[in-house]
Amino acid sequence: MNGEHSPQAFQAVVLFGPPGSGKGTQAKLLVERLGLPHVSTGDMLREHIQLGDALGLQVREVIKAGNLVPDELVIRLVEERLNRPDCRPGVLLDGFPRTIDQARILLGMAEGRGLRLLVIHLKVDYDVITARLTGRRICPQCGTLYNIRLKPPIVPGRCNIEGARLIVREDDKESVIRQRLVAYDAQTMPVLQFFAERVDFFEVDGSNRKPEDLSDEIVNWIQTTVQEGKAS
Ligand code: ADP
Repeated sequence: MNGEHSPQAFQAVVLFGPPGSGKGTQAKLLVERLGLPHVSTGDMLREHIQLGDALGLQVREVIKAGNLVPDELVIRLVEERLNRPDCRPGVLLDGFPRTIDQARILLGMAEGRGLRLLVIHLKVDYDVITARLTGRRICPQCGTLYNIRLKPPIVPGRCNIEGARLIVREDDKESVIRQRLVAYDAQTMPVLQFFAERVDFFEVDGSNRKPEDLSDEIVNWIQTTVQEGKAS
């Protein structure tokens, strides 16, 4: 539970990449190994939609259309989450930041909390992304992800763990996937350059790799970078 490296090294690890690049899968592997809380803005927003509260109602149609939720809403969510005590030793961010303004705010939040920002870019070919997203199914109960072609469940249409009927996320429809990629190119891609110039930054090709191998490579980079940082 304590993770593989020193809890004294306080970090905000950012998993960055296009929709379908495997951020969620890597996040699950990394939180176990690093012992950091997983903060996914997509998951948080979907929880509000499920609850049907004011925020959920506000963002539902935006997400369904494949567009980005306004900065002030996600920033507030992340800020509230980072203020909780479990995030004091660090955090693994998945899906945030997605705009330059979000990135600027995160830099400030990390600095104010004494967290070192480590950004990992999962690079994946667009045709691989489309194949992953169009075949993606999710368990509505435990959130486990499947793919009808690439990672099918044992019993077709059913979760291996819960036995629940798998569903297609509302924004995994083909026309919506296209819009999500458009939003990524226009609003999120510029954040890469912003980070590459300012913080520790690591790029890995996630198109054709086993998630466990990718996770090994990422953990190695984090450990080396944290060690180097301590030495200097
Ligand atoms: P993916 O990376 O596969 O698109 P996410 O679960 O991260 O999936 O996000 C789903 C949707 O939630 C996004 O398309 C967007 O509408 C909204 N969203 C999530 N994070 C953010 C963010 N940081 N800023 C704005 N919108 C966001």
